[in-house]
Amino acid sequence: MESNPIRMCELLVGLPAVTILGVESREGEPLRVHVERVAANDGCPVCGVVARVKDRRHVELIDLPSFGRLTRLVWHKRRFCCPEPTCPHGSWTEHDPLIAPRRLRLSDRAGRWITEQVGRCGRSVSEVAKELGCDWHTVNDALLAYGEALVAHEGRFGVVEALGLDEVLFVREGEYRRQHFSTSIVDVERGQLLDVVPGRSGAGPTQWLLARGEPWLAQVRYATLDLSGPYRSVFTKTVPQATQVADPFHVVKLANLKLDECRRRVQNELVGHRGRKDDPLYRARRLLTKADERLNDHGREKLMGLLNAGDPKGEVFATWRAKELVRGLYDHDDAALALQFVQRLGNDLQDPEVPEEAQSLGRTLLRWKHQIAAWHQAHVTNGPTEAANNLIKRVKRVAFGFRSFRNYRIRALLYAGKPNWSLLATITPR
Ligand SMILES: [Zn+2]
Repeated sequence: MESNPIRMCELLVGLPAVTILGVESREGEPLRVHVERVAANDGCPVCGVVARVKDRRHVELIDLPSFGRLTRLVWHKRRFCCPEPTCPHGSWTEHDPLIAPRRLRLSDRAGRWITEQVGRCGRSVSEVAKELGCDWHTVNDALLAYGEALVAHEGRFGVVEALGLDEVLFVREGEYRRQHFSTSIVDVERGQLLDVVPGRSGAGPTQWLLARGEPWLAQVRYATLDLSGPYRSVFTKTVPQATQVADPFHVVKLANLKLDECRRRVQNELVGHRGRKDDPLYRARRLLTKADERLNDHGREKLMGLLNAGDPKGEVFATWRAKELVRGLYDHDDAALALQFVQRLGNDLQDPEVPEEAQSLGRTLLRWKHQIAAWHQAHVTNGPTEAANNLIKRVKRVAFGFRSFRNYRIRALLYAGKPNWSLLATITPR
């Protein structure tokens, strides 16, 4: 047990490279711990002559709370000058990354703690700022500096055998709530977010993938898709050897979307306005998208009753049946059967008698038939991409939406990108 008062204080402050000069405690203010760096007098970085201390500057740094009190570290930083008259170096201020990173107004340990709290635990920047008694920007700047260094670590991901691309809305901004999208690049086998790039065109992901290099790309065996044309071209161009797989979730989602379009059109034609709560088709909207086997007898009866009342030409019913057939595709895992089935369903839906929404569904099925049937062999899905996107959505809820793509990217990667958190203690902030 330590009983020397100075050593006790040093133990409590817990920094390896400092001498405690004093502690300032004022009512209603953070505790201020004044420190000085333990160091031999540095030599001039240019000529090597022993430098002279010119003066000291007090730099106040945000530190972790101690014993329930907000705490500041007041670093008495020495300013040196070179005594050699012919040396061009002039004066400089000492620096020590063990105490504080350059340019940030907080201690090194506070920076690492913030990164873990916000990045790993998913807490909000403002909540953590409040806990430290500082402003939002101080916390966010630290998060970017440490977080970017952590996710950039080259060991974060290795060989990827199954890649997925998916679009995510990252912000709506301005008067017209203009939507800004991003593309998530995911290892769908491990459920790891590899990166996020701006936009939902093919340009961003293509550039990102090409930057990984030929050997890395050559190991990709499966590429999962959300039925987006631009992403398909990305894969065709960057990983031509990979089997393209349409994600079942998105195939069924498309069928439901077409069903919904059909219901709204028929309703509008019949009653001349958008759905109201007494309209039979409006009342049927949830029953329609529910999986048939999840409807009990009562639900099915109710659905058919509502369709009888609101769907005189049977158009909604026809699109509903198409949707159920699409869902049925995934009841088995025979790829050859699936291909035949998609081909036949797609052709059947081209019949001019079929409502236009179901025809459109049929055209998409035919266009993607190989990718749809490939799922039956590969069994890789965008499911993990969705899971990563759900993590991103959680991060977005905590942050109330992002205005800066850089903030958004780093938060998403720290939370869903599986960085190696044991490296946090050793990385150098950027
Ligand atoms: Zn010098």
